[in-house]
Amino acid sequence: MEWFYPASIEEAVEFVSKGVIPHAGGTGILRSNPDRISEIVELSGIGLNSFLETDSEYIIGSMLTFSNLVEKIKIVDKQHLLIQSLSKAASTLLRNRITIGGSVFLSPIWSDLMGPLLILDSQLRVAGTEERIFYKDFLANRKLLQNRLIESVIIPRKSVHSTYYREVRTSFDYPAFTISIISNSPKDSSSIVSREDFTSLRIIVTGCKSLYCEMTETVREIMKDRNFINSPSFHLKDRVEFVGKRHGSNDYLKEVLTVQLRRLLQNFRSADEKEF
Ligand SMILES: Cc1cc2nc3c(=O)[nH]c(=O)nc-3n(C[C@H](O)[C@H](O)[C@H](O)COP(=O)(O)OP(=O)(O)OC[C@H]3O[C@@H](n4cnc5c(N)ncnc54)[C@H](O)[C@@H]3O)c2cc1C
Repeated sequence: MEWFYPASIEEAVEFVSKGVIPHAGGTGILRSNPDRISEIVELSGIGLNSFLETDSEYIIGSMLTFSNLVEKIKIVDKQHLLIQSLSKAASTLLRNRITIGGSVFLSPIWSDLMGPLLILDSQLRVAGTEERIFYKDFLANRKLLQNRLIESVIIPRKSVHSTYYREVRTSFDYPAFTISIISNSPKDSSSIVSREDFTSLRIIVTGCKSLYCEMTETVREIMKDRNFINSPSFHLKDRVEFVGKRHGSNDYLKEVLTVQLRRLLQNFRSADEKEF
């Protein structure tokens, strides 16, 4: 295997455009039969590890690791959804290696990055161009980044309440599914969410058969029942499907998802409201 060590983004873009494989944290490449790779370009020397904030966006360099990003975002927003998700992903050693760019490009079914990026309407900046691609569009058509380099991930700064859940058997397990929830209630309000805010809830579940499912409409429909939290109709049944391999059957995971979603929504309700 031949390694290349470019000193600039332009040089790296040139290698990647010719089909040379970019190397970021290496944790995904190592899992995927590296013997088939003949040429590889190392991305650590080209300055893709910046974290910038504007009034409206966070611009996250693709070479920031999960740990790096948690540290940076903590300074500006202690409760950011990405802190909740990435600080629990994999193990400490892996979080020190896994990069944002590598995770976006692979976007495996167990990703702890996918739900937050989707629910926050994130975009990907393609290196060497002014082009931005919505992460959602990339997941629908992965060829959009073929032989291209992700320079950064752009996340709108939103004042939202958020919560994250990962279904694992041990703390360092791959999640069977993840749940990301946001609502538009102001972050500094003392109550978590009022009845009105429930209409602004967004819910994304990852790990399902179709990679991820937007559950917002499903849950809103269930919530038409005023006492939905305790209602037997609060069941996801045929509204989501899992492949059901390592972590349990499709039916088992649907049951667990229903229980966990009910708990999260309960926590999201306003402390002083007894019933919705
Ligand atoms: C044991 C284990 C457990 C894990 N558990 C979790 C978990 O619980 N949650 C979770 O979210 N992740 C987890 N991961 C990480 C995940 O599976 C991937 O390995 C990781 O996301 C890849 O990131 P990387 O930086 O190591 O990428 P690399 O392995 O370097 O690259 C992965 C792919 O992305 C391409 N690439 C890299 N950077 C760029 C770029 N800037 N632009 C374009 N293409 C690029 C590479 O060419 C390669 O095809 C785990 C990994 C392991 C090994």
